[in-house]
This record gives sequence, structure tokens and C-alpha cells, in this order.
Amino acid sequence: MTVTTPAQTTDTPVGETVDAVVIGGGAAGLNGALMLARSRRRVVVVDGGTPRNAPAEAVHGLLGLEGTAPALLYERGREEVRRYGGVVVAGEVATAEPAASSADGDLRFTVTLAGGRTLTARRVLVATGLRDVLPDVPGLAQHWGHDLVHCPYCHGWEVRDEPIGVLAVGPASAHHALLFRQLTDDLVYFARGTDLDEDTRARFAARHIRVVDTPVAEVVTSDGGRIAGVRLVDGRVVARSVLAVATTMRARTEGVDGLKLPMEDLSDGRGRRFAAGPSGATDVPGVWVAGNATDLTAQVGAAAAAGALAGAHINAALATADTDAALVAAGSRTAPA
Ligand SMILES: Cc1cc2nc3c(=O)[nH]c(=O)nc-3n(C[C@H](O)[C@H](O)[C@H](O)COP(=O)(O)OP(=O)(O)OC[C@H]3O[C@@H](n4cnc5c(N)ncnc54)[C@H](O)[C@@H]3O)c2cc1C
Repeated sequence: MTVTTPAQTTDTPVGETVDAVVIGGGAAGLNGALMLARSRRRVVVVDGGTPRNAPAEAVHGLLGLEGTAPALLYERGREEVRRYGGVVVAGEVATAEPAASSADGDLRFTVTLAGGRTLTARRVLVATGLRDVLPDVPGLAQHWGHDLVHCPYCHGWEVRDEPIGVLAVGPASAHHALLFRQLTDDLVYFARGTDLDEDTRARFAARHIRVVDTPVAEVVTSDGGRIAGVRLVDGRVVARSVLAVATTMRARTEGVDGLKLPMEDLSDGRGRRFAAGPSGATDVPGVWVAGNATDLTAQVGAAAAAGALAGAHINAALATADTDAALVAAGSRTAPA
């Protein structure tokens, strides 16, 4: 699912070697860039303008910014990065790959934008986010981010007390149902052929969660464009105004394949992410990753925090590299081969 935010201002990327290119300008990328720009690093953010929460009306669960529209949050973030001299470019990274090191042995990367402009960077922060993959149910996708929700913390309060249906995608959906049960007394669990053992059925019954075992045929939409219910294969329609579903979450890899970052699958099969350490460092020297691209369950606050941490670690690595280069320049050390 991809939704584009309103048009952004396009700055011209600098032609020289920059300290860091940040690929992706959501919460993670912008906060990483903010840390770098405030550390007097030359940083360029390249952002395609399709943050994951673009379909949502507001960001919730974010202290101090509760209820802010996503587009407004990111516009403020871009302004804050620019305030400290950072450059934010509206565009797509087409390729990113390691390049030959500098004469003093420092790392270099070549980042090419769709359209052909090329940037040379000393370090790269990958903050490309993730794609939510919905189960293949006719009529479902059009409601994403509105009447079709995935996260009880993002928009659960907004759908409280509504007739909610959970479309199961696997055994883990049972836990999802218990979280939504906290928000409504009227909950139906569409098992969709997934395993549901007797113990779970008993627990659902105790919480008055109704189970529908008949397979789902399609989501029914009202004339007003809202969810009206779920049609079963036997023709019955179970009236619902909100549906909840757990998506499969896949880190966005467009444009960054050339960095050859290791990836890994979640043990429960619910997603695939870039592998990284706690600060976002990857096994590829000079490349960090932050936000949903590596932490599939991070909300906006966690993604921003991860970006800030990665930005600080990139600045620290650059400070070491700057000092190594100064030693080479002073003749106290030879450049690494
Ligand atoms: C419907 C919905 C509602 C949500 N509501 C909330 C909420 O209320 N509260 C909350 O805390 N969280 C919410 N979330 C979760 C939130 O969206 C994520 O936590 C957050 O977006 C992660 O930030 P990020 O920076 O890692 O990725 P993103 O915000 O997805 O940003 C990634 C950016 O990278 C760009 N990009 C990707 N590839 C390239 C490329 N090759 N070149 C250039 N740019 C590229 C994209 O265009 C995008 O702008 C919601 C999610 C969904 C799906």
C-alpha cells in the first residue's frame, strides 16, 4: 500500500562530496538528518514522499504531537532539517552503491536519483520504511488507513465502540483480537481457515468475541464508501463498520539493492527487514539503517528515535574518520591502502 503526501519543495543537491545521504525522509530519516545537520555535517535527504502513514488523518500515541496530521509533521521535520543547513530533495533514489575510497582512505558511496543526478557521500543512512502487504480479500484494500486498521495504538481509540471485525491471517491474529476487544464490546473474529484451537475458542467465548469459521468472500462497501460488512462464501453478510488486519511488513528495498545490506525474515513469518545492530549499524561499513526498514513494529516516535541514534553514530564515525584524515595530512600516518 503506497500513498503519496502532497508535493514537497525540491532543493538542488550539492555537487560536492557530502558527509551523509539519507535515503527516505519519514520520521527516521528526518530525525537522523536533523542530528547530522545540527552537528554541522553536510547532509542530503532524498525522499520519495510516500511515508507509511500517509493515508491516516493523524498521528496518535506521540507525546506532544498527538493528533498532528502526517503531512504537517513531515513538513515541519523538513523545515527543521533545512534550518540547520540540511538539504531535503523530493525524489527517488534509483541506485546506491559503494564507490572507491578517498585518497586518505575514507569511505565513499555513489547515490543516483531517478532522473540521473548523482551524489557522492561519505556515509549512508537507509530509512526507506516498509510496505504493508494486505491479505488478498476482494474489496479490502480501498479502506486501508480509514475503516481498515492494523494497529490498536495508532487508531484504536478512534474506532472504539464500533462493530469491529478481525480478519485473521494466522494464529497470531488471536492476540490481535484481544487487543481490539479492549476497544469494543462488539468484536467478530473471521478465522479465514487459520488455526484456532479449543483453548483460544474458550478464551474468545469468555470475552464475548464471536468466531465466524465460514470463509470470507469479500468486503462490502456502502454507497458512501465506508465498510458495510463482510460477505461470506455462503452469501451471508456480517455487518461491520471497521475491520482490523495484521499486514505482512516488508522493508522497502527500491534503490538500495546495490548496498548489499543483509536482510532477515521475522521468525513468525510476518515480515522481512534489514538486519542491523542497536544503533542501526549494518554489516556494510559506512551504512546505517533506521526506522521501519529495520524495526518493523516501530511507531513514529520509535522510528524518529532510531533515526536520531543512527545520526549520532554516523557523526561519531565521521569524527573518527576526520581525525584519521588529519593524521594522514600531518604526515603522522599513511593512508590505508
Ligand atoms: C495507516 C497507518 C497509520 C499509522 N498511524 C500511526 C500513528 O497514529 N502513530 C504512530 O506512531 N505510528 C503510526 N503508523 C506507523 C508509522 O507509519 C511508522 O511508524 C512510520 O512511518 C515509520 O517511519 P519511517 O521513517 O521508518 O518510514 P516512513 O514514514 O514510511 O518513511 C519512509 C520514506 O522513505 C521514502 N523512500 C523509500 N524508498 C525510497 C527511495 N528509494 N528513494 C527515496 N525515498 C524513498 C518513502 O517515500 C517514505 O517517505 C501508522 C502506519 C499506518 C500504515
